[in-house]
Amino acid sequence: MNTVDRKAELAANLAEVEARIAAACRAAGRARDEVKLVAVTKTFPASDAALLTDLGVVHLGENRDQEAGPKAAEVAGLRPDAAPHWHLVGRLQRNKARSVVEWAQEVQSLDSARLADALAKAVRAARDAQIRDEPLDVLIQASLDDDPERGGCPLGELAALAEHVTHTGELRLRGLMAVAPLGADPAAAFERLARAGERLREDHPNAADVSAGMSHDLEQAITHGSTCVRVGTALLGGRGLASP
Ligand SMILES: *Cc1c(COP(=O)(O)O)cnc(C)c1O
Repeated sequence: MNTVDRKAELAANLAEVEARIAAACRAAGRARDEVKLVAVTKTFPASDAALLTDLGVVHLGENRDQEAGPKAAEVAGLRPDAAPHWHLVGRLQRNKARSVVEWAQEVQSLDSARLADALAKAVRAARDAQIRDEPLDVLIQASLDDDPERGGCPLGELAALAEHVTHTGELRLRGLMAVAPLGADPAAAFERLARAGERLREDHPNAADVSAGMSHDLEQAITHGSTCVRVGTALLGGRGLASP
């Protein structure tokens, strides 16, 4: 597909997603600007991410450091003035921390104290090397199904992990992220996440973000207080069977 056609396709998809977000906000009595849209560009080329920035998308998400680092650099080359905010939304191995802090403004998938320590150390090193001058925004990924395979911190351990994160000095705790459990009612899961967010804010009033909702469940997430929806398929199209 040529660039003009692809841009038109992305524009139409974006308009549809925007309409869904706006309708869900209206139905929930919330303001549209309470909900951030992160376009998840994983498996799609940097040219698509660049076109999304042309269409006004500010937040881009990726789930693998190996793919995201080069893509973020490519987008910066294609659109030097766009300065999108990159979010890591997938599982992160500690040995990738140094690389992640070179491209990500926010890590949404923090789920252990050891990973927090690795990220904080990487931020410190990047600041010393003048690769970045800001702390790293992080969300703690909460597990809503207690399935260790899918990542996330058990709800009962959130308070301790939050305390640990704030003591690293280099990480700014912005809130919680979660993926709805497979095969269960997403509304009930998002409600549990909202409660966990309320408890977190008793001790960490700035940790106000709740990242929840994807292409198929963003309405339920917004109903239950999401401040950040992460949308891939509905914006960019299907990723095919081989892709995560
Ligand atoms: C891929 C991904 C998304 C986007 O999912 P879609 O169903 O394509 O909208 C959101 N969050 C995470 C953590 C992802 O890995």
